[in-house]
Amino acid sequence: MTPRVVGLLLAAGAARRMGGPNKLLAPIGGRPMVARAAAALAEAGLAEVVVVLGHDADAVRAALAGVAARAVVNPDHTSGLASSIRAGIAALGADVEGVVVALGDMPLVRADTVRRLVLAAREGEEIGAAAPYHRGQRGNPVVWGRRHFPALLALTGDRGARDLLAALGDAVARVEADDDPGVLRDVDTPEDLAAIGFSASGAAPPPGDADLRALYQATIMRHARAPRGLGPLADATHRARGENPLCGDRVALALRCDGARVVAAGFEGAGCALSMASASLLADTVPGLTVADARATRARVLALIAGSAGDDPGAGSLGDLAALGSVRAFPARHRCATLAWDALDAALEGV
Ligand code: ZN
Repeated sequence: MTPRVVGLLLAAGAARRMGGPNKLLAPIGGRPMVARAAAALAEAGLAEVVVVLGHDADAVRAALAGVAARAVVNPDHTSGLASSIRAGIAALGADVEGVVVALGDMPLVRADTVRRLVLAAREGEEIGAAAPYHRGQRGNPVVWGRRHFPALLALTGDRGARDLLAALGDAVARVEADDDPGVLRDVDTPEDLAAIGFSASGAAPPPGDADLRALYQATIMRHARAPRGLGPLADATHRARGENPLCGDRVALALRCDGARVVAAGFEGAGCALSMASASLLADTVPGLTVADARATRARVLALIAGSAGDDPGAGSLGDLAALGSVRAFPARHRCATLAWDALDAALEGV
């Protein structure tokens, strides 16, 4: 028999970061963030989805209309995340053999990843523990078998189950989720969203598929927050800089080339989230390419931004770079996205 595993969505937080309106209610791809997160659990085929409410409970409950989920209220939610995990576990039936603990502000997790986690957590007849990893970094949600419930019920404060996972070490099954950046992505503040042309109210999004848009937005934010290749590059052979006076972006690109191949790329500078994300994506993509391939990649990125890519048959192979296409509908921001790529063109001149 299939073990009875339920989804536990933590949606009780005060979401202070967002200021003003509750972040969990912000539309992501056309539906409230919390509803998206709950729907992914439901679509994964879990036996039940339980959503723990607290702050703004009535509004969050209303946002969940149409999602097959049971709401429980954590009256103690201000004491931190652990109290919501406890309230959720306490609300589960005695026949539940495992739980997928997910976060209400991580709406981009794919249902397929949840399914893979549950499979990985199976230890014969029993459910153990499993966690997803994206490019080596542990994310959410995490699966816990019934044998871990006492430890979950003993959690306190706002640290969640991090220490518990650390203590279990290799006993936690590791699920590689390189194809699902949603396991790392929480969704950002209004300022972050505005910085890349999106608004928290969902106004004026660029055209295109809503899910894809949310994913692109998350990709840009990830690179803007933790840019790859930021810092001085040792043994650089070619350099070029670019400036965007419109919003003060400055990028100094450095390459290390060996013959007709780019071996390493890095950049220094400062600017808006989009300019930093674009430079980061470049530094992530270009190393390993021949000069000809680096130029071809630049041409495809520029075409994507300009909207002249049409039906690029290889668009899928652009990977994360495809996210830069989301700036297409915002001509005033094109320069932010092309800055680093123009510097690449200049730097490659000398190779
Ligand atoms: Zn900019």
